[in-house]
Amino acid sequence: MPDTLNTLREACHFINGVYTVGTSGRTFDDISPVTGRKIGIVHEALKPEVDAAVAAARAALHGPWGKMTQAERSDMLHAVADEINRRFDDFLEAECLDTGKPRSLASHIDIPRGAANFKVFADLVKNVPTESFMLDTPDGTGALNYGVRKPKGVIAVISPWNLPLLLMTWKVGPALASGNTVVVKPSEETPLTTTLLGEVMNAVGVPKGVYNVVHGFGPDSAGAYLTEHPGVDAITFTGETQTGEVITRAAAKGLRQVSMECGGKNAGIVFADCDIDKAVEGTMRSAFANCGQVCFGTERVYVERPIFEEFVARMKAGAEGLKLGAPEAADTTMGPLISNGHKEKVLSYYKLAEEEGATIVTGGGSPDMGELNGGAWVQPTIWTGLTDDARVIREEIFGPCCHIAPFDSEDEVIARANDTKYGLVTAIWTEDLSRAHRVARQIDVGIVWVNSWFLRDLRTAFGGAKASGIGREGGVHGLEFYSELSNVCVKL
Ligand code: NDP
Repeated sequence: MPDTLNTLREACHFINGVYTVGTSGRTFDDISPVTGRKIGIVHEALKPEVDAAVAAARAALHGPWGKMTQAERSDMLHAVADEINRRFDDFLEAECLDTGKPRSLASHIDIPRGAANFKVFADLVKNVPTESFMLDTPDGTGALNYGVRKPKGVIAVISPWNLPLLLMTWKVGPALASGNTVVVKPSEETPLTTTLLGEVMNAVGVPKGVYNVVHGFGPDSAGAYLTEHPGVDAITFTGETQTGEVITRAAAKGLRQVSMECGGKNAGIVFADCDIDKAVEGTMRSAFANCGQVCFGTERVYVERPIFEEFVARMKAGAEGLKLGAPEAADTTMGPLISNGHKEKVLSYYKLAEEEGATIVTGGGSPDMGELNGGAWVQPTIWTGLTDDARVIREEIFGPCCHIAPFDSEDEVIARANDTKYGLVTAIWTEDLSRAHRVARQIDVGIVWVNSWFLRDLRTAFGGAKASGIGREGGVHGLEFYSELSNVCVKL
């Protein structure tokens, strides 16, 4: 098996417990978003590699993994989490190489959550009851009904690039805890931590074929071949809504179940009675953390008119105080976007905002990063002055930017927040708790945060309404997706 460094510089598939370059003979470059320079190569999987990975996952269902007790599987997933933590620095290096995100961010969020995703579901699966009913029968003897959860089978995991380890393990954790096997196709932009996890699986003795990785792109590549593969029993996806539609169509063949965590155009709602220090701090994070590449990100901020000017001024100062830089620099608070391709997309929205008549409060272009100018750098940007029908207000940009608009009444802001095809999250800032509850219930989203943002309890339901997704993961909801519930009816 290659050592860590080789694994990082040459991302291979991980199939049946073995790293392999496959037979496609095709590779693509792994590019640093910090410099724009190549940091390694990635082997591309085509049909034969996907076939092999799915076959390995299928076989593993009937091997030692399938015969383990739930407690044994949970212990093994705890060992996976412990091994991720033991190799924390390797995961940190890999994640920062691929994404360019600040080490301070990845070491507080991405890597710890990557480990926690295994522990939480390993524990949860042991403590979730199933239903049972006693049925009265005419002969008076009755019948006992009880539910049994079984693994669904081979799960295809298609994951994005913004929080690579976190979002991939968020699916792999509950899938394995429920006794399934997985084939993961990470984003082509971020192959490294998914690859490295193969070493962890082998180190703690996870049976071969339980965790498989194939690299490649979406259409006509690993992603499409995997999601169309008849040997896959269910598909869990995080990414753009349009990609989710394509995958849902692929899943329709054979009626495979899907879990879709897709895009958003999230609103932040700031009432005049909020604690403005907390509201500014939280909205700053929601707009600029991870260079704005968080599905929960707040790109539409509505501020009650009495505090609008002050709020905009404080957000401007906050954005201008962000320190753009390389991941390892201790004072870096914002990294680059994921790629120069994504930079072009974000900059096209910066241009569009001007064309649509926005007032640029700060930013609006790319910064001079000196020797890092080849990287995917853009300025944190704030606009005001757009009307609600502007494309910048309606379309997900996924960059470090937000538009701030004033509002005058609760009903008005609820209607404006809901005026979107998406429904992922909303953050409400107010010290009036009755108002918070009242407004929260009227926003058409999967998650509402009150006086917080990205505060996650992994036992709770997670997912989006409308075009932001299908289904819920998290807590028992994840276990429901990753297992098949059978009812046993026993006539007494
Ligand atoms: P994409 O939809 O572009 O890609 C997601 C994954 O799907 C990647 O692995 C991609 O491969 C793969 N893929 C693309 N096309 C296909 C296809 N036809 N068949 C199978 N797989 C395919 O999303 P991004 O990676 O750009 O991630 C950003 C998006 O993710 C944003 O819209 C964001 O809102 C959303 N997101 C949603 C979250 C949520 O929980 N709701 C959380 C985080 C992000 P490749 O990259 O190799 O092309």
